[in-house]
Amino acid sequence: MTEFTHSRRRFMVLSSATLAAAPWLASCASAEGSAAIPAKAIGMPWPNWGELPDTPPSAPNAGSVGFAVMGLGGYGIGKVLPALANGERCHVAAVVSGNPEKAKTVAAAYGLPEDAIYSYEDFDRIADDDRVDAVYNVLPTGLHLQWTEKSFAAGKHVLCEKPMALSAAECEQMIAASEASGKKLMIAYRCHFEPFNLRAMELMREGAVGKIKTIETAQTYRMGPTSVAENWRVVRALAGGGPLEDYGIYGLQSALYLSGEMPVSVKAVTEQPANDPRFAEIFSTVTTEMRFPSGAVANMVTSYDTTPGRNLARVEGEGGVLIMEPATGYGGHKMSLVRDGVREDLVPGDPDVQFARMCDHMADAIREDAAILTPGEMGLRDMALIEAIYRSAAEGREITL
Ligand code: NAD
Repeated sequence: MTEFTHSRRRFMVLSSATLAAAPWLASCASAEGSAAIPAKAIGMPWPNWGELPDTPPSAPNAGSVGFAVMGLGGYGIGKVLPALANGERCHVAAVVSGNPEKAKTVAAAYGLPEDAIYSYEDFDRIADDDRVDAVYNVLPTGLHLQWTEKSFAAGKHVLCEKPMALSAAECEQMIAASEASGKKLMIAYRCHFEPFNLRAMELMREGAVGKIKTIETAQTYRMGPTSVAENWRVVRALAGGGPLEDYGIYGLQSALYLSGEMPVSVKAVTEQPANDPRFAEIFSTVTTEMRFPSGAVANMVTSYDTTPGRNLARVEGEGGVLIMEPATGYGGHKMSLVRDGVREDLVPGDPDVQFARMCDHMADAIREDAAILTPGEMGLRDMALIEAIYRSAAEGREITL
């Protein structure tokens, strides 16, 4: 927490500087003549992953915070609903969906009454629903701003998925809406609640590898054939520039929380292959170099078009190396510390606790006014950096922050 608040002023400076770079995706071509998924909340079929529980969760503990889950996609059904059900101080109180059949099935599986099912059209009546304290916004990124604002207007707190929004300006609007309503805003950066990443942060603070020289991150995979008509992740109005916001944001975050610093400059290159329907509107790959005040340098790559897929964070210091691979997934993490030629494998806990712990943290913020570890300002910080990265690539030069 201290680390975050400490550098908050710098985020704001960075944000207003990069706001000037409004057309940050100008170099990203748009698809012509294709019927892209619209940038409005609509019903979608069952996602291709995510399971429902065999039996509804037991009754919530006294004082538990009730969440409405907004957006019943893969992550909503696969991770968010189970996380809320597994939390000690939170529970699923409602669902918001544009697909009535899907909503009904999910609600039944979680033991919710029919009047706890909301559509995007009748969402505003949630204002009168005392069972719902907060909304967990799991919609595509391009809908985060609008539906977070609507949730605050309905008097609810908001836990919003990453990336926070499509631009720093949108993040600022979300923070302003939170402040105006007096309700909490948290960004669902789950790695801040995950034992491997928490231990890695601690090790770096303790100087486990000595003075940090380089950080390398890679968040890559190869996306199967798709187009703007089928997949919001390749629609610019819903996904921004693509892999950096979606996956590379984990590498960006790792570089910041492992170095404990904010960069002084970024230099980036984007790739957008021609004649590939996956990349008609978004980038395929973003490669970034960030320089830190200490002299440390981070090299980050993120891609939707690279095999083998990687999820790496590696810190090399004068006195050792920390290797995390996979670094930021849902599970299966591996982490080693190499010092004096000796490799030590570390298993600080079960990564699976990250989901419920994060939801419980939001509950503590709501019930006990606990300081939020991953507030809207952190989402804004990251979005401002992402804008600087795109601006560097578009202008073909290093951007000083
Ligand atoms: P998804 O495509 O599986 O689901 C999105 C859901 O949103 C749809 O099923 C539908 O119910 C709803 N929706 C409403 N309007 C829509 C529209 N116009 N287009 C598409 N869907 C629409 O996506 P997802 O993987 O569940 O991602 C949702 C959010 O969760 C995104 O912000 C994403 O970045 C985030 N996410 C986070 C993690 C994580 O590890 N924290 C992992 C995956 C996704």
